[in-house]
Amino acid sequence: MASSSFDTIVIGSGPGGYVAAIRAAQLGMKTAVVEKDTIGGRCLNYACIPAKAVLRVADIVSEVREAGDFGVKVGEPEIDYGAVMQRREKVITTLTGGVGGLFKKNRIELIQGEARLAGAGKVAVGDDTYEAKNIILATGSVKRPIPGTSFGGRVIGTEEAWALSELPRRIAVVGAGASGAEIASAYVRLGSEVMLFEALDQVLPTEDADISKVAERGLKKQGIQVFTGTLVKDVQTGADSVTFSYNGEQAEVDWLIIAAGRGPDVEALGLAEAGVEVDEKTGLIKVDGAQRTSVKGIWAIGDIVPGPALAHKASDEGIIAVEDAAGLPTHPLSHPDIPRATFCTPNVASFGLTEQQARDAGHDVVVGKLQYGAVGAGTVYGDRTGLIKIVGDRKYGELLGGHIVGAKATELIQELVNVKALEGGYPEVARIIHGHPTLSEGVMEAARAADGWLIHG
Ligand SMILES: Cc1cc2nc3c(=O)[nH]c(=O)nc-3n(C[C@H](O)[C@H](O)[C@H](O)COP(=O)(O)OP(=O)(O)OC[C@H]3O[C@@H](n4cnc5c(N)ncnc54)[C@H](O)[C@@H]3O)c2cc1C
Repeated sequence: MASSSFDTIVIGSGPGGYVAAIRAAQLGMKTAVVEKDTIGGRCLNYACIPAKAVLRVADIVSEVREAGDFGVKVGEPEIDYGAVMQRREKVITTLTGGVGGLFKKNRIELIQGEARLAGAGKVAVGDDTYEAKNIILATGSVKRPIPGTSFGGRVIGTEEAWALSELPRRIAVVGAGASGAEIASAYVRLGSEVMLFEALDQVLPTEDADISKVAERGLKKQGIQVFTGTLVKDVQTGADSVTFSYNGEQAEVDWLIIAAGRGPDVEALGLAEAGVEVDEKTGLIKVDGAQRTSVKGIWAIGDIVPGPALAHKASDEGIIAVEDAAGLPTHPLSHPDIPRATFCTPNVASFGLTEQQARDAGHDVVVGKLQYGAVGAGTVYGDRTGLIKIVGDRKYGELLGGHIVGAKATELIQELVNVKALEGGYPEVARIIHGHPTLSEGVMEAARAADGWLIHG
């Protein structure tokens, strides 16, 4: 018979919850996870993973189209969208199956159903009540519409956008942040006509301005119609299409995808009754540096707490929360230093402060920039336009931020994150030996540029 008493109950099995549960089990805690939907959370089932599975197909299409530049003759690739969707499913089931396997290996009990807090140390799921010394809330986030719109009919969110049963003829994406840019960049290369709208004056509005410019050029080159500083209005959904206006113009598309906001999925938890404090404005749960909520014995992690809504941030917070519950020393996450990655083409990745943020914060700012074309790898592998930008503080050579747009940016950023975490600065990156010919030599050269002795340029 299943047990009803645990050391730790985790609510939600996304990258926050499942990692927290595994860490709890490793630390010897008898652990259960409650999940109302499918194991792996939104990240594995509807968001990060399906998005990247489809983007991978778009990247292959791009490579085939560019093959002629490398002396390989091929025709225009034909998209078998059904097969693309089948592979997407297979990727998801492989990874969610992997999480299920890890639960078994670590003897973590999976309780299927919607959980709510039911008094001190108690979690209710349907008619059953479970007891736990530690409760970790990891229920993630849900889509939110932009003012003047509501979801329904042909107006959908980002998760639905990655699960369309047919390749759309024409789409409009509202919000050119990470999710919006990824959707636009995937579908345009698969053959859809794509309009991308951003209310602010640059695509990827939270990125450094120099990086956004290169990204916008790359998105437009793929055929995306980009409208910055533009509001979408008068949205009317019909049975087969949706109409809207922008800048005094009218447009009709198959799907209008709102990629402009999410909010915490906490309604079912009964937070108020349990005394768990939330921020009145954002609805996010208030936590301290060890992810403790206002109620002893309850921690909260992932998209339901402040900070960037990213899978790796959720996982890290899960580890912090559980280690704190186990009485181990923990360190609070530094939100600015969490790597941010956008998997559109061109790839965009960053951490830390933009140049403007560093100036606004009063730093003695130094900037090192390098175009991929300046190092051998950029030319060899076929991306000369990528840009690496390092923002530092001159006094101690501190790495304040790293910003990369171009091939493999999402992998390259990690070096700068690691050096910063190990308390190195840009002068150290400039002197660490890098293999040749690699794009990472570009990171070293950008650091040399910041340090005043760029070799290749
Ligand atoms: C389209 C899209 C693409 C993204 N791509 C990336 C990316 O490439 N990289 C990245 O780092 N981040 C990405 N994100 C963000 C990432 O998905 C989230 O930051 C991450 O999923 C948060 O993890 P989590 O564990 O907090 O919650 P989730 O992954 O949302 O999981 C929460 C789980 O809790 C369950 N749950 C909720 N309430 C209850 C309840 N009361 N009882 C039981 N179960 C409950 C839900 O069913 C869900 O399974 C993307 C997001 C979107 C929308």
